[in-house]
Order: sequence, then C-alpha cells, then structure tokens
Amino acid sequence: MKTITPDRLDQFFSSLEPVWELRLPILLPDGTRVIGSLNDGPLALHGGAVSGKPTAAFFPQQSTLFTVTDGAMQEPPPADRPLFIVGFPPRDLACLRFIDRFFADGWRDDLYFRLRQRATVAGLSGYCGPGGSLISPAGGDCDLEFFWDRSNWLVTAYSETGRKIIAGLPETATPEAAELFLQVPAEFPDKNETLIRHASELLRTNRVPESFWAEIGDRCIACTGCNLACPTCTCFGVQDWRSAKKTERSRMWDSCQLDGFMREAGGHNPLGSEAERTRRRIHHKLAADPQKWGEISCFLCGRCDAVCPTGIGIIAVARELVARFR
Ligand code: SF4
Ligand code: SF4
Repeated sequence: MKTITPDRLDQFFSSLEPVWELRLPILLPDGTRVIGSLNDGPLALHGGAVSGKPTAAFFPQQSTLFTVTDGAMQEPPPADRPLFIVGFPPRDLACLRFIDRFFADGWRDDLYFRLRQRATVAGLSGYCGPGGSLISPAGGDCDLEFFWDRSNWLVTAYSETGRKIIAGLPETATPEAAELFLQVPAEFPDKNETLIRHASELLRTNRVPESFWAEIGDRCIACTGCNLACPTCTCFGVQDWRSAKKTERSRMWDSCQLDGFMREAGGHNPLGSEAERTRRRIHHKLAADPQKWGEISCFLCGRCDAVCPTGIGIIAVARELVARFR
C-alpha cells in the first residue's frame, strides 16, 4: 500500500498527464462536483459520488458511430492516449460492473468497449464522503483505490496497470494506517438496501396495483433527469445528422420517461401513459433486471432521488411501495 499526502496530490496527477488522458472529480464554479479534467477546475476528491452519470466516460451522451463523406465511410479515430479515470465510490463501481455485463451480452457493444478497454479506473473511499463520512472501500472492481484516512490518501492497486501508476509513491508510513484500510469492511451496508429488496419482492410478486402507478406517474414532469443521472441506465436512440456532403450517425441517450420512448412507427405506443412509463422505470431495475441478470440493477447511488424535482426517485418510490403494500 502506498501513501500520498494532500499537498502532493495535484503534482501526482499532473505528472500522469503526458501519458494518460486524465479525468477526475473537479469543482465547477457553481460548486458542482463532476468528473472532468484538471483544466476544468480544481481537484475535488472529497464529497462522495459526483453529480452526473459517472459511466458517461464509456457511454457518452452522444457518440459518433461513423460519418459518410462523399460516399466514403469513416469510423471515429482511436484515442491517442489511454484513459485514467478517478472517482468511483464502491456503489458507482458496482454500477460499472453491471453495465460491463450488459454491454458484453449477446452482441458485444464495440463502441462501449472501445472506450472501456482503454480505461484504468480508480475507486474512491475512506472518510471522504459527504461531510467527512466514511465510504467503505470497494476492495476490488477497479484497478486501484484511493482511501482517505483523514490525513493522507492510502492507495492500493488491484491490477498490474494500477501498480505501475503508483510505483513511484512512497510505501504507507505507518502500519496503523494500512490496518485502518483493511479493517473497514469491503461492503456498504445501508438501510435502503433492505428497503429496495422489499420493493423488488412486491413488484416481482405482482402486489402493486395499477392505481399506484397512475398516482406516481401523475407526479412526473418528464424532465428525464433520473435517466440522465443514472449510472445503470443504458437506453439510447440512433440519429443521422445530414448536410449536402456529409452524414453523421450518432447514438444518444434516451429516456424511458419520454412519450416517444417506445412509440412505434405506426403510432401504437406500448408505454402510452406517464403511469406506464414510470412503472417501467422502477419495474425494470427492481423486477425485470433481477430476473435477467440475477441482481437488482439499482446500486443506491442516490442520484435519481437527488435530481428528481417531484420526489419520485427510486428510493422515494420504494419507500412508498413498502409503506403501503407490505
Ligand atoms: S439510485 Fe437511482 S440513479 Fe442510482 S443506480 Fe439506483 S436507479 Fe440509478
Ligand atoms: S426526474 Fe422525476 S420528474 Fe424527471 S423524468 Fe425522472 S421521474 Fe419524472
């Protein structure tokens, strides 16, 4: 295990930039923490999960599939440097592990893996949660992990690339610091885990009446914030952009809360009401995905509850479901 003192952190990351395309939590002028580059704002590793979809590094809001110019087709050029992305707390790493499975299933998604396979991912844990709260270490699911022990960052590598990145850092100064990291359980108990499991059971056993979804759907204003923020939302649409000489085909995030999400060319819409679309958003994560993938695809990152302007993020809906039908 290695150590890095807070005053050396900027220098450490800057030293990686000639080799790596670096993305890490930074602070925007409006106070928002997002994943960005050191040119976008000061480093901001403290504060827990960043705003926005962290998995956008591998599944961007818009990706060019190819362009056709004067009849000749071209794929986007490969990136010139590998990506080193820092800032995934364990719940975000669990989301990433889930979408890795999703994009590898059946037709392997080459656009996703082109970005994913060039990436080295660093987790973030320790007493760097909101207000200095403890984030338990992931203990894996990433190449290396930064753990804040309230004085220094303890850095552990889980892959060969991770070991190379931190090779120049000093070994952890005190055995007590290393012990601290090892003693924190590599799990993240949360009362919402029981809640979400109970809500999942209610949905899987069909114990939620349609009237409930009419009530919840009435509160949705279709702003799409929940889908745009969710690290495990993977739906997209395909769009062609045309000019006289050039056509560009892109794929872009879609939202299951929008009227056009499943509308067919003939006009029929299997999800024709906000009630059906809201039911689908929650049911998909808590009932359909456990059936297909063997696990609930919500890892309780909290983003949809934080962004929903009308209070119907997944945890809020699960709470209501359990209170009324269990
Ligand atoms: S809490 Fe919301 S945003 Fe986070 S994984 Fe679950 S559904 Fe997605
Ligand atoms: S964030 Fe809330 S209001 Fe906006 S689309 Fe999602 S559920 Fe609807």
